[in-house]
Amino acid sequence: AEESIPSVEEPHVNDLGGLIAEGFDEKSCLSRYQSPWKNKGQQQHQPSPHLISKLRNYEALHRRCGPHTESFRKASEYINYSIHNNNSNHSSSSDCQYIIWTPKNGLGNQMMSLVSVFLYALLTQKVLLVKPQPHISDLFCEPFPGTSWLIPSSFPPINLTFGKDSPRTYDYYNLKWEKPGSVIPAYAYLYLAHDCNEEDARFFCDEDQTFIQKVPWLIIRSNQYFVPSLFLMPSFQKELSELFPEKETVFHFSGRYLFHPVNPVWSSITSYYKANLAGADEKIGIQVRIFKTDPDLFDKILQQILACVIKENDLLPQIIDETKKPGTDALHKSNRTKAVLITCLDARYSNAIRKMYEEKTTQTGEIIRVFQPSNEMRQKCTDLVHSMKALTDIYLLSLTDKLVTSSISTFGYVAQSLGGLKPWILHRPEEYNASNPGCQRAVSMEPCYLAPPTLDCKTRGTVDKGKIVGYVRHCEDRAKGLKLI
Ligand code: GDP
Repeated sequence: AEESIPSVEEPHVNDLGGLIAEGFDEKSCLSRYQSPWKNKGQQQHQPSPHLISKLRNYEALHRRCGPHTESFRKASEYINYSIHNNNSNHSSSSDCQYIIWTPKNGLGNQMMSLVSVFLYALLTQKVLLVKPQPHISDLFCEPFPGTSWLIPSSFPPINLTFGKDSPRTYDYYNLKWEKPGSVIPAYAYLYLAHDCNEEDARFFCDEDQTFIQKVPWLIIRSNQYFVPSLFLMPSFQKELSELFPEKETVFHFSGRYLFHPVNPVWSSITSYYKANLAGADEKIGIQVRIFKTDPDLFDKILQQILACVIKENDLLPQIIDETKKPGTDALHKSNRTKAVLITCLDARYSNAIRKMYEEKTTQTGEIIRVFQPSNEMRQKCTDLVHSMKALTDIYLLSLTDKLVTSSISTFGYVAQSLGGLKPWILHRPEEYNASNPGCQRAVSMEPCYLAPPTLDCKTRGTVDKGKIVGYVRHCEDRAKGLKLI
């Protein structure tokens, strides 16, 4: 009973160890204080006092510089002037600098890059603003008290939907505007997605940062969790270590700080949790993400999941085959129940596993119940109800006790990091066969930076970034990737 999430009638204030600031209207965003992880016994990690004071300072900066302030008005005027006159000689009189985050790909990818950009803003004393579409404000509450992170609609018309081939406004190699006679531009596009080029990758070079950080408006487009590369930059290393003495808690705390589902999503999460999961003795999450649409893969992936959760790791019990030993009862009588939460675009996996356990006796005597909150068939990034279901699934996964995830899926990364869970990662189905294991335990709860640049800032050649410091390693599910451990 202790497991249940407090309801609206029984508010339970939880500031996540000081992460959450005071001064919010509680009712307008119930998830902020009624933390779903409150009673999970997963509060083994505590945010550092340095992180808490850095967040409070950031919030003050955001209030001073955010939308509808005099500083914001001046800074907007400056970028407006620069766009219309195609120069930036009219120097900015604002004392504030901004970063505009623009989304790319699915919800998991968006949450990955948003945390990364927020951390960069925290390190460089810039103000993080988000593009209101597609539906950030329909999914998440405002994270900073007394202000907003949404760009107002009156903001100067600059094209915020630039992509891989849009012209960059910053010439990395030549550090252009520092040459005699040139001036700092009013804004710069920074493209930090999985397919960014070598010049874009110079974002992670300290030498270039000294220039980039002077630009009053940075517009960053990314779908990556680029935090591991920030940890490799000498200029940020010391501060990051002080903010996060436990390196694997970066997304865990930043995500819990930033992402509070709005009331309608929160209500779906809590009602589903109460109805199906809260009463179980143990909750097992299985996140199934299939990137290939090969119909022949279904049986193989089902076998792989079962090998991982039953044979290899005892997450779920074997079924007693009544046909071989008629009348055999459970070996160990038990009244324990396990709730299995399966999330997937496809309902066939949960249907098969549910059927397998239905009305069967298990070797441990445990009762296994299988749930799948939604099966959306395909990804629909611009559909709000679809995204709300995605967020509900991610949060429900984060509330499980043990989690199995799919390789290279940011959807699973968010769930594991928010939940503070080291998942069992299913190997890519292509790599699974009867002689290979189905899954492997993650070494840390951090997400993987799936496509980090290998640029060596000094030589301009390449370097193995997974061998530079002990706490940035290649990922279990992606040899090229980088993760904090
Ligand atoms: P990734 O592609 O696995 O890295 O994760 P993303 O979240 O970036 O993109 C996948 C998108 O597909 C999600 O945002 C959802 O829109 C949808 N999706 C994938 N798996 C699921 C699932 O298990 N449940 C729901 N509701 N949606 C999913």
